[in-house]
Amino acid sequence: MMATVFNWQLGREMDYRFEEAHPQRQFAAVFNINRCIACQTCSLACKSTWTFSRGQEFVWWNNVETKPYGGYPHHWDVKLLKLLEDANPGGQAWNGSQRADRQPYGVYNGQTIFEAAAGIGKENALGYLPSDLEWTAPNLYEDTAKGPPGARNEMHPEGTQLPEHNTWFFYLQRICNHCTYPGCLAACPRNAIYKRPEDGIVLIDQERCRGYRKCVEQCPYKKSMYRPNTRVAEKCVACYPRVEGSDPLTGGLPMETRCVATCVGKIRLQGLVRIEDGDWAEDRNNPLYYLVRVERVALPLYPQFGTEPNIYYIPPRWVPRPYLRQMFGPGVDEAIDRYTKPSRELLAVLQLFRVSQTIVFRYEIEEGEKIPGTEMYNDTIIGFDRDGNEIVRVSVLEPFHVRPQKYQNSI
Ligand code: SF4
Ligand code: SF4
Repeated sequence: MMATVFNWQLGREMDYRFEEAHPQRQFAAVFNINRCIACQTCSLACKSTWTFSRGQEFVWWNNVETKPYGGYPHHWDVKLLKLLEDANPGGQAWNGSQRADRQPYGVYNGQTIFEAAAGIGKENALGYLPSDLEWTAPNLYEDTAKGPPGARNEMHPEGTQLPEHNTWFFYLQRICNHCTYPGCLAACPRNAIYKRPEDGIVLIDQERCRGYRKCVEQCPYKKSMYRPNTRVAEKCVACYPRVEGSDPLTGGLPMETRCVATCVGKIRLQGLVRIEDGDWAEDRNNPLYYLVRVERVALPLYPQFGTEPNIYYIPPRWVPRPYLRQMFGPGVDEAIDRYTKPSRELLAVLQLFRVSQTIVFRYEIEEGEKIPGTEMYNDTIIGFDRDGNEIVRVSVLEPFHVRPQKYQNSI
């Protein structure tokens, strides 16, 4: 018997295995796809922290894949979308015009992985178990572009020009979404998976797990992974000791995860959002709340799956919109418009990405002068920690230093 829960990303109630329950705060992050250079520093930072041991050779809790062809495990999203489509042919549609505060993307009228499973007599969520081969090459199709329809390995004859490129690819950065309604948690027959009440981080109890791999099968994002030598499942732990503030570097304050803190492209911003009545509590000057709920420039990945994922993406501006809409829902056009011509406030908030390892809970903006020859203002954004103390101050215009002549050609 399924319970009824509210999923704000879908703008409606949906079926889920357990009664609605929410943490006080939710671990969340925004990834700006436009800036990623696929250096894989995040992947290696994660691996060298958590998954460097025997039995974890093919385990990448953080991975960066090239879309549209790449995926880890191979074609994970295409396979899931096909399962959903087979269960409910032609039904995966949104009504993007039905928008309101608690339904910022409108209403999803299709089926989620939970509803589709119930419809065809499957277990708790629709899914499949990837083969060993599908986990072996985390970066297959790296930098492989999509050219003209129906032609392989060809550039589009009309070249490339914004707003949408004819020949295109982009990098998709992926970690566990620490979903509000996790597929992995719903799937587990041992109740070994739990969502922490203090920060919404989803963990697997290694003592309870018996390695049935139901979570591997029913996580739609394929972020729960089986370790053959210990015979239990493992997944991203959101660097919970850092988020708890037990790393001495931040003096007891919540700290960003390793993949976020090491990001070379400065594409990642992570934080904790306050939850009230099952939804994000209004917190206008929390950078994540602002980016996701006020400016709506960052969107969930495949929200139609129904797990209410908590990693949000600023979509890549050069990619054909139909592809992006199936991936991020109907908010894509608005998000790209706002990112392409950012408001004064958005431009300031974008400066907060990767400037502090201590989590920013609130920001303030000090207005600056207009930058000559542009429409931009040299505002300064100030970030505050959990306790309200200033931790960072950064301006729109980057400081410019000229190296003195005497140091030229010296090392
Ligand atoms: S470290 Fe940042 S820029 Fe490099 S691959 Fe990861 S997300 Fe992209
Ligand atoms: S992304 Fe997958 S593993 Fe992570 S919480 Fe969601 S369903 Fe579970």
